[in-house]
Amino acid sequence: MAKLPVKKLLVTGGAGFLGSHLCERLLAAGHDVLCVDNFFTGGKANIEHLLKHPRFELMRHDITFPLYVEVDEIYNLACPASPVHYQFDPVQTTKTSVHGAINMLGLAKRVKARILQASTSEVYGDPEIHPQSEGYWGRVNPVGPRSCYDEGKRCAETLFFDYWRQHSVRIKVARIFNTYGPRMHPNDGRVVSNFIVQALRGEDITVYGDGRQTRSFCYVDDLVEALIQLMDTADDFTGPINIGNPREFTILELAEEVMRLTGTNSKIVFRPLPADDPRQRQPDIALAESKLGWRPTTELAQGLERTIRYFQQAL
Ligand code: NAD
Ligand code: UDP
Ligand code: UDP
Repeated sequence: MAKLPVKKLLVTGGAGFLGSHLCERLLAAGHDVLCVDNFFTGGKANIEHLLKHPRFELMRHDITFPLYVEVDEIYNLACPASPVHYQFDPVQTTKTSVHGAINMLGLAKRVKARILQASTSEVYGDPEIHPQSEGYWGRVNPVGPRSCYDEGKRCAETLFFDYWRQHSVRIKVARIFNTYGPRMHPNDGRVVSNFIVQALRGEDITVYGDGRQTRSFCYVDDLVEALIQLMDTADDFTGPINIGNPREFTILELAEEVMRLTGTNSKIVFRPLPADDPRQRQPDIALAESKLGWRPTTELAQGLERTIRYFQQAL
């Protein structure tokens, strides 16, 4: 059988939660992987098991600065993703999305690489339509505490489409919905990691608001599969394309599921809802289903069990 050509791939944010799983999968597929990360939220622990791999290379670098390397494809994941992290230094967050996109697009243009952007469901803001499909333009506050992330990601999408229109750069824009799994940061304040850590420590489970707001949770392996399939689509397919799990849960249902699976004695307490917290979020994945033939296959309970096992060891 003919061997597949080995591609040189760049993963920015490769030492983070999603990036480390992506690097793993790309190496397993036989490619050369250059992981670029400034270790702001990611860490060597996430990729320690890859450091000795002969086709893996790690570079400490901040993508707000130019980067000159030779690669065939770029997965641009670098960006803090949880509110506690992206609000720590909001100016740097916008710089990472905007200057980072310009640099990575400039690189893609020079070396004629394909480039995939990890965008986000946050581009829809607090949506008026439900579920959200790619044609919806969103309802985003431009001057609030979440804006550095939401507007930064929106501007990055604009840059991707302008480099495509103006310079014929081959782009792929993925709008990622809430994703969870092993190697989430234990202090990132996200709901899945918070609830699991609280349950394992026997602390109160903090539900914000009345817990009736909804989210749809995608397990990391499903997400990574979709990103790789998206990168492999024909040049004329740019996205944006929603990637996520359409199965919707209330935050209270999630709390109860985590409590059941961990068998914790923790109890639920209610805390104020953060500013601009979306009431509902559910991806419309019809485009991913038709274009990629993809849909997530991991049930919430199954994914939570694997994530709980990870945190049991990590804590
Ligand atoms: P993460 O924080 O674990 O990973 C981000 C990585 O980027 C980290 O390793 C961090 O150190 C690195 N980084 C940050 N700024 C950088 C910079 N200027 N230069 C180089 N590296 C930098 O977050 P994640 O959950 O793995 O998210 C990865 C990407 O996916 C992000 O772009 C995020 O916006 C997007 N995303 C994630 C989710 C989710 O639910 N996890 C949802 C939507 C979008
Ligand atoms: N860039 C980079 N690596 C490259 C090529 C470009 O980091 O291999 C950066 C460079 O710093 C530049 C940015 O990408 O500022 C945008 O590149 P582009 O060619 O679009 O713009 P210009 O160089 O004309 O400013
Ligand atoms: N949330 C919660 N308790 C927590 C952390 C989060 O009830 O300890 C809620 C939060 O208010 C939001 C939902 O869970 O309604 C998802 O929050 P997360 O920060 O994980 O993701 P995002 O809001 O970015 O979708």
